[in-house]
Amino acid sequence: MQGSCNQARTVCMPHPLIPVPTPETQEFWDGLTRSVFRIRECCSCGKFYFPPSPICSHCSSRDVRWSDASGKGSLYSYTIQQKPAQFWATEGPRSVALVRLEEGPLLVSSVVNCEQTPEKLKLDMDLKATFEKFADVTVLCFEPLGETS
Ligand SMILES: [Zn+2]
Repeated sequence: MQGSCNQARTVCMPHPLIPVPTPETQEFWDGLTRSVFRIRECCSCGKFYFPPSPICSHCSSRDVRWSDASGKGSLYSYTIQQKPAQFWATEGPRSVALVRLEEGPLLVSSVVNCEQTPEKLKLDMDLKATFEKFADVTVLCFEPLGETS
C-alpha cells in the first residue's frame, strides 16, 4: 500500500518549474502549443493585461476577451542565472527577463537565441516571441528582433 501512495504522490506532483494550467490560463497554454501568444484584452477599458484572469487588472471589468498578442516587446530588465534549473535542459547561463509587451503589460520570461551576456542583452532592445518546448509543455520566450547570434 505504501508503494502505491508514493506512486500517486509522484504522479500528482510535477516538477515545481513546470507550469500547471488553470481554467483561467488554459487558453494561454493551449495557444503556446500552436506557437500563438494569447493575451487578455478588456472590452471595457481597452487595455491588455497579463497574467490571464477573468477580471481586468486595470478596471476590474469582467467584460474581457482573448486576443492574439503581437509577440513584440522590449527588454525592460533582466538578470543572468549562471546555473539554470535542470528543467531548462540547457547548459551555461540563462536570462530571467522582464519583457515590456507592445500591448503594455510586463511579463517574466527569458531571452533566448542570444549570448547571455550584458554585452548582448541590452536594455530596451526589441524582442519577439518565440516558443520553446520543454518536456510536455511549451513556454513563451523572447529573442532579439532582427538579429540572432
Ligand atoms: Zn479594463
